[in-house]
Amino acid sequence: MRDKLNASNRFGKKLTVKYDLLKELFESKKSIVISTHRSPDGDAIGSSIGLYHVLIQLGHEVTVLVPDAFPHFLEWMDGTDEIIVFENQEDSAKQLIKTADVLFCLDYNRLDRVGEMGEFLKQASAFSILIDHHIDPDTSFEFILSDTKASSTAELVYRFLSEMNWLGYLNLSIAEALYAGIMTDTGSFKYNSTTAETHRIAAKLIDQGMFPDKVHSAIFDTNSIQRLQLIGYALSKKMTVDEGKGISIIGLSLGEKNRFKYKKGGTEGLVNYGLSVKGIKMAIFLSEELSITKLSIRSKGDLDVNKIAREHFNGGGHKNAAGGKLDMKLKEALNYLNDVIQNKLDL
Ligand code: 5GP
Ligand code: MN
Repeated sequence: MRDKLNASNRFGKKLTVKYDLLKELFESKKSIVISTHRSPDGDAIGSSIGLYHVLIQLGHEVTVLVPDAFPHFLEWMDGTDEIIVFENQEDSAKQLIKTADVLFCLDYNRLDRVGEMGEFLKQASAFSILIDHHIDPDTSFEFILSDTKASSTAELVYRFLSEMNWLGYLNLSIAEALYAGIMTDTGSFKYNSTTAETHRIAAKLIDQGMFPDKVHSAIFDTNSIQRLQLIGYALSKKMTVDEGKGISIIGLSLGEKNRFKYKKGGTEGLVNYGLSVKGIKMAIFLSEELSITKLSIRSKGDLDVNKIAREHFNGGGHKNAAGGKLDMKLKEALNYLNDVIQNKLDL
């Protein structure tokens, strides 16, 4: 089985995915790990949980494994209490990876996106399946469903279910999870990655009896007052705008985040305010952590921030939404960023 599939993967990205062979793989009970990227977002958790509920119904032993904690506003999804967080339960996570027959890699394109957990995934003997929409996927996976034009990994999971003839297993929990993934990665269906097909899939999910407003409210209407105050503070005190170059920058130190009782995911979406300023074509948000500074970069139109993140910020992502990290404190990172903007970018 493995050899047959391996043979069909020699052509790297040109591979025509062999669903028939995959169907054979899932005919007998398997131990399956579904993994996703560091700092899991709505698409990472939504696509993983959606797939999880299908595989459970098929009788497999399934665990969703994430490198680090996910934001509390995703906890409402059915099954998130079963998720194993590598950072907190390293021993059981390693054991699961070691003994897995099948490893799903969702919403990331290469193993360095999952931090330390990646080292263990690399050594796993499991049959590896990549489902993802990031540019330039690593071709070492044994089965690849990669479409950089897809709105979200959740949309690709739906496509995967369709190809596997598993759509009959759709239920309310799956519909809510996949809808959440699509909704968060499309900026609530507003980015151009939102196609007619995206809406057709959303319609099929709604047909399962879900309410879009429940998913939307669970994710966006659970702000703490401190979170809103942190955003207010960042916008009023920390945003700089270079109108000439069309760039806005916000940087928050660890101390500033702590002052507002920052929790994981608490600055999600902040970078989009910077991009909403008239005339701005690139917005950058820097968030200081213990030993690094994380960057979120967004752009409009043809400005390719995936390329910028790769070349200058040890990161990547999509053309209009990317991220990266610098091994520096915020102050140093801001100086480095300024040097890149003034001297390295052609804007
Ligand atoms: P965010 O700014 O929301 O953290 O991430 C935006 C996009 O950039 C996401 O698609 C995410 O996968 C990608 N991204 C964020 N951080 C990194 C990183 O450190 N490395 C890479 N390769 N991609 C990143
Ligand atoms: Mn995604």
